Amino acid sequence: MFFVLFLQNILALNPRKQTHATLHSTAAKKQVKKQWKRNSDKNCSNCEKLENNFDDIKHTTLSERGALREAMRCLKCADAPCQKSCPTNLDIKSFITSIANKNYYGAAKMILSDNPLGLTCGMVCPTSDLCVGGCNLYATEEGPINIGGLQQFATEVDQNRNANQSGSNR
Ligand code: SF4
Repeated sequence: MFFVLFLQNILALNPRKQTHATLHSTAAKKQVKKQWKRNSDKNCSNCEKLENNFDDIKHTTLSERGALREAMRCLKCADAPCQKSCPTNLDIKSFITSIANKNYYGAAKMILSDNPLGLTCGMVCPTSDLCVGGCNLYATEEGPINIGGLQQFATEVDQNRNANQSGSNR
């Protein structure tokens, strides 16, 4: 009995089945996000100014090898602060797990079902202020997970696959 309750508590941290869309107002999200961000607040008056500071820049375009390496580093955190920082509530650790398992189509499907602009957002989203800014690996030597790069990789692979299929149908 105790074990069942224990399991239920763990699963409640990361419910997998959703019966409704999860919408949050921008104001509420900004307020909650402060609890998860690992980087400094960009509006903070006594913090280091970030204009022209590109220290946290990473290559956003990943090869398959790079994407797999990055996906393997992810800790699949139980509370996943990266997800809590995402305005579209992407199931980030699930799509990263799919990439780590080489299930690129599954990853793209997960991304696009939550955010139809998944590819564009993977390219231009200010991730260091959002999901990447909340990553638990922020303080490590290798830095946070390149979530935008992984998102772009999965959706691009899926797009190319679709293009190839429609090309072969002609
Ligand atoms: S916070 Fe970072 S390490 Fe944890 S699940 Fe998200 S991307 Fe992976």
